[in-house]
Amino acid sequence: MYGPNGADMSYLDYNATAPIRAEALAAVFEAMQSVGNASSLHQPGRQAAHRVDVARRQLADLLDCSPGEIIFTSGATEANNLALRAAFSAGNPLVTSPVEHPAVLETARTVTAESPEDLVLLPVGTDGLVDLGALEHVFSARRGGVVSLMAANNETGVLTDLRVAAKTAHESGALIHTDATQIVGRLPVDVVELDVDLLSLSAHKFGGPQGAGALYVRRGSALPHRPLLVGGGQERGWRAGTLNVAGIIGMGAAADAARRGLGEESERIAALRDRLESLVTGALPGCFINGRRDRRLPGVTSITFPGVPADALLAAMPDVAASEGSACASGAPTPSHVLLAMGLSREDADSTIRFSLGHATTSAEIEHAANAVKRAATQVRAALAEAHGPR
Ligand code: PMP
Repeated sequence: MYGPNGADMSYLDYNATAPIRAEALAAVFEAMQSVGNASSLHQPGRQAAHRVDVARRQLADLLDCSPGEIIFTSGATEANNLALRAAFSAGNPLVTSPVEHPAVLETARTVTAESPEDLVLLPVGTDGLVDLGALEHVFSARRGGVVSLMAANNETGVLTDLRVAAKTAHESGALIHTDATQIVGRLPVDVVELDVDLLSLSAHKFGGPQGAGALYVRRGSALPHRPLLVGGGQERGWRAGTLNVAGIIGMGAAADAARRGLGEESERIAALRDRLESLVTGALPGCFINGRRDRRLPGVTSITFPGVPADALLAAMPDVAASEGSACASGAPTPSHVLLAMGLSREDADSTIRFSLGHATTSAEIEHAANAVKRAATQVRAALAEAHGPR
């Protein structure tokens, strides 16, 4: 028994979703036992509103912003949609990168559908870094619009130098949005220091419940509201609908726990990730790690096993939960757009697994996973060699 909740399984898919933190679970449980719509004026309503205020403060403390700059949403997909719709309606072009999550890429394509020339995708290096020099080039000929770049990639963990991107964007009169879903609660994020105008996050990536998230909107940003949901005018008109009180409170509790553990937790997780990488690559020559190794999230590794299809490898180790490409794309037969943009061949992209670790990962899980990967890769290689027969 070494996995979350005592399971005989290594859960290494934190970038898809992290196990809920004990603090968040307790908060959600308590909130669900209380009645109260946060917009009601009676006592139960006011109590719910007070709890939401506390959560707003906890989340603001994690981002170093003020509570009034937070808009609660159902997650990062909604936050990205809200941010890009509002920012793009304030001006064009919309500059982003081909390694973004579909929640940004598809939104970007949708909002620029009538003027596709307004969508600019920056080049990406083989190390997964977005070429920020090209951003200067884009703005040498035009001004205004919005730049949207992810803070950390969900497949490789590669980090974007947002300060540099924000400087170029602002000098060119553009706004900057970041999809910070994978970094919030895992590495320190200070919105003032990063100088971003809009930031999306999601509770379930840092130990909060699924279905809760937020958009940070810098105070004073001259942004038109482009709500996806209209109705009762909640969240200052940005997002109508009864607040998800339990989800928001759980997110606040998770934010608070993540903030307290930040430095210590990330060092421990990085050491476990490094151990997994060295055990796997040491035992299986030919494997390689994708993305700039010294500029990554602590808990992610994307490993290519040349000649070993990722779906077969995962099927051969059912007691290890990891992902081919990103979870949102799983089930689809297309290879990872992130790895292809980094120059991997389709075959190598199809032979890549993302392992992602987090707050509850144990060293026993890592040792077990490394052994399982070695065994499974050897087994799949042998099965393929037999199927292909002697050459
Ligand atoms: N952006 C990134 C980078 C992600 O990894 C994810 C989750 N896979 C999302 C956005 C979507 O988040 P949510 O599940 O909260 O909609």
